[in-house]
Amino acid sequence: MKKYYVLGNPIEHSMSPIIHRMFAKQLDRNISYDRVKVAVDNFQTQLKQLLSSGMSGCNITVPFKGVAWEFADNLSPSAAMAEAVNTIVCENDGTITGHNTDGVGLVNDLFCNYNLPLNNKKILIAGAGGAARGILQPLLQRHPAHISISNRTHEKAQYLAQKFSHLGPVYAIRYHRLSDQSFDLIINATSLSLDAAVPPIPDCCIDSNTTLYDLMYANELTSFQLWGKQLGALKTIDGLGMLVEQAAESFFLWQNSRPDTQSVIEHLKKK
Ligand code: NDP
Repeated sequence: MKKYYVLGNPIEHSMSPIIHRMFAKQLDRNISYDRVKVAVDNFQTQLKQLLSSGMSGCNITVPFKGVAWEFADNLSPSAAMAEAVNTIVCENDGTITGHNTDGVGLVNDLFCNYNLPLNNKKILIAGAGGAARGILQPLLQRHPAHISISNRTHEKAQYLAQKFSHLGPVYAIRYHRLSDQSFDLIINATSLSLDAAVPPIPDCCIDSNTTLYDLMYANELTSFQLWGKQLGALKTIDGLGMLVEQAAESFFLWQNSRPDTQSVIEHLKKK
């Protein structure tokens, strides 16, 4: 039996074990997948213990994606650009490879589950933290018209725009300077929905052609989704589909088989 884990802190509410066990059942794979709560200063020791106990791979979540990026022996191109690792594959030669499947998860959710092509679309990302770093490359690979990044700490948005500029048109712009612009897709990559708040995007950026995507997911509509609905947005989506799609990509890296995601998303929505 191959052993997989998700490492984070907090970790109690992670849905990853449910998702991966459903994938394994679907594809008749004999695997285990468990949560590990890791003390904030103990990530490397914990990971080494799991490696020596024969782990085949793991997912990494908050707050360890950056440390995992530093620790991995090899990095996939997406993890190298994102400076964050959410999936570790243990190789046969004893090394570990860090991947980042968050961005592919988002793009697959938008494209496969919501039929939302991104080519020529005007995209705004609110936030410039770890999640924003992870989604920029896969979004730019879909040839949007341009991506604007707005963030409370403007310098972080500038850093990302500069770092990813060789992949396509990407700009940093302060929130208050957005008032004469409209967007096809606005992605909330801030953590503000956790506090039932919304990023300070001017209302006029949203019209009946705008789709809003909140990376956060919740049992009810998030504050960002509610705000979009009030302003007459075309569609508002939360990050549950992204969660399942990024898990599917991890599963593929580990097991070389692609699970069906729709049935898992439906199951989680009902729960
Ligand atoms: P980070 O902590 O790395 O980044 C948080 C971002 O939110 C920063 O840009 C920060 O701005 C901004 N922010 C925080 N507070 C405020 C505020 N009061 N006003 C304005 N901006 C604020 O978090 P992550 O990037 O890792 O995660 C962001 C969100 O994405 C979370 O809700 C997370 O749950 C979700 N997520 C969902 C995934 C999924 O599969 N659905 C996967 C990964 C993440 P500043 O730089 O100025 O501090």
